[in-house]
Amino acid sequence: MRLYSTLSRRLEELPEQPGPIRMYFCGPTVYQRAHIGNARPFVLGMWLRAWLRQRGYDATLVHNITDINDKIYDAAPGRSAELAAQATAWYLEDTDDLGLGMPDGLPKATESVPSIVRFISQLVDSGHAYPVEGDVYFRVGSDPGYGRLSRQRPDQVEEQEPNPLKEDPRDFALWKANKPGEDTAWDSPWGKGRPGWHIECSVMAEDAFGPVFEIHGGGLDLVFPHHENELAQSLAVGHAFARLWMHNGMIGGMDGEKMSKSLGNDVSLRNVLDTWGREVVLLFFLGAHWRKPVEFGDDVLVQARAQADAFRNFFLDERPGDEAGEAILEEELAAVLDEDFNTPEALALFHAWRDREEWASLRWGLALFGLGSLTEVEQAPSEVSALAERRREARDGKDFSEADRLRDEIAAAGWEVRDVAEPPGYRLVRQA
Ligand SMILES: [Zn+2]
Repeated sequence: MRLYSTLSRRLEELPEQPGPIRMYFCGPTVYQRAHIGNARPFVLGMWLRAWLRQRGYDATLVHNITDINDKIYDAAPGRSAELAAQATAWYLEDTDDLGLGMPDGLPKATESVPSIVRFISQLVDSGHAYPVEGDVYFRVGSDPGYGRLSRQRPDQVEEQEPNPLKEDPRDFALWKANKPGEDTAWDSPWGKGRPGWHIECSVMAEDAFGPVFEIHGGGLDLVFPHHENELAQSLAVGHAFARLWMHNGMIGGMDGEKMSKSLGNDVSLRNVLDTWGREVVLLFFLGAHWRKPVEFGDDVLVQARAQADAFRNFFLDERPGDEAGEAILEEELAAVLDEDFNTPEALALFHAWRDREEWASLRWGLALFGLGSLTEVEQAPSEVSALAERRREARDGKDFSEADRLRDEIAAAGWEVRDVAEPPGYRLVRQA
C-alpha cells in the first residue's frame, strides 16, 4: 500500500504486513464544540485503521486531546480546566456518534506533563534549548535541517512567538512561565508554568509508540509551525520520530455569513450530526480525497443524502438469490484504496457494485466505512405494521379514501408504504 507523505513529497510504500503501522493523528484543542472540519482527521484515521486491519496489518491509532493551550486560557480566563474537561467530553461524545469506534489511545496533555518536563530537560542539556526568565525556547539554529517538512529555507523561516528575550526570532517555546489569568500550572526546573503546544505532541506520540513510528497525521494547517517543530524536537534528541506525514485538506466554505440554510451558522459536528445524520456526514467525507480541500454546505450534504438513499433503497429490494455464496471483491477495492487511500474511487466502486448487484461485496464495503446501517432494513414498529395491514384490507375492499387516510397516518409516523407485487403486497420504508 502507498500513501503520500508531506515530508518526501511523494507516495511512500508501507512496510510489509503485519507491520506494525503505528499512527498518531493530532486531535482537537478543547475550548469549544468541535466543528465539522475537526472531524476530518478523526474520520480519516479511523477509516485508515479499519482498512489496514482488513489488509492484515497490526494498525494502531492514537489521537491526542490538547487540553493545555493558549486558546483555552483565552476562552475561559480563570476556569480553563473546567472548559477543557467539558469540551473533551463533547468531543468524545460527538466523534463516538459517528459510529466508527474510537482510537486505541486518547492521551491528554494534562496527563503527560512529567514526560514533557523530562523531554525539555534533555533538549536543554544537549544545547538544543535554553531557558529565559521562566520560559524555555527551542534553539532553531541548532538544527541545520529545520524547515524540512514545510520546505522553508532555514535562514528564511517565519518568526514565531515574538519575544525580545529570545536568541533568535525563529525560536519557539517549549515551556511557558505561568502568567496572571492562567489557572493551571505545573512545577518544573524553570519554575511554575506549562508546556508549549508542539512539545505536547512530540511527547504524547513517543509515550504511545516510542522514538519511531510509521505515520503522523493532521490537518494541512498544522504543517507549520506545529509539525515542523514536533519533528525538530524529536530529531534533536536523536529520535527518528514519524516516517510518513499525512496532511488532510481543509474544509472550506465555513466562514461566510449564513453558509448553510439547514445549519444556520452552527457548523459544529453536533449540529451537523443532529440535522443530517451520521450516514450523510460519512458520505460527505467519503466522496472527497483526503488530501484535497472540500467545500462544505447544503448542496454537498444534499448530494450525500441522495447517495445514502440510493444504497438504502437498493437493500430494500428483494434478493435474486443467496447472498452467502457471493465472493467478496476485496481486490477491486484494494486497487483504489491501496493507492493513496482513494475513497472517492471507492465510493464510485460501491455504486458500480450496486449496478452489478454485488450484494455481499457492497454490504461488506459499506460496513468497512461505518455505513453498514444503510444495508440493514429497519423493521417497522408493530403499530405502523398494523396501519399498513388495515390499509391493505381497505384497498382490497376498494375503500380508497380510507386507504389514502391510512397512508397519511403511516407517513405521519415517519414511514412510507410502497405497493409491491410480492406478498403481503406492500413494504414499509423508513423515511429519511
Ligand atoms: Zn499535535
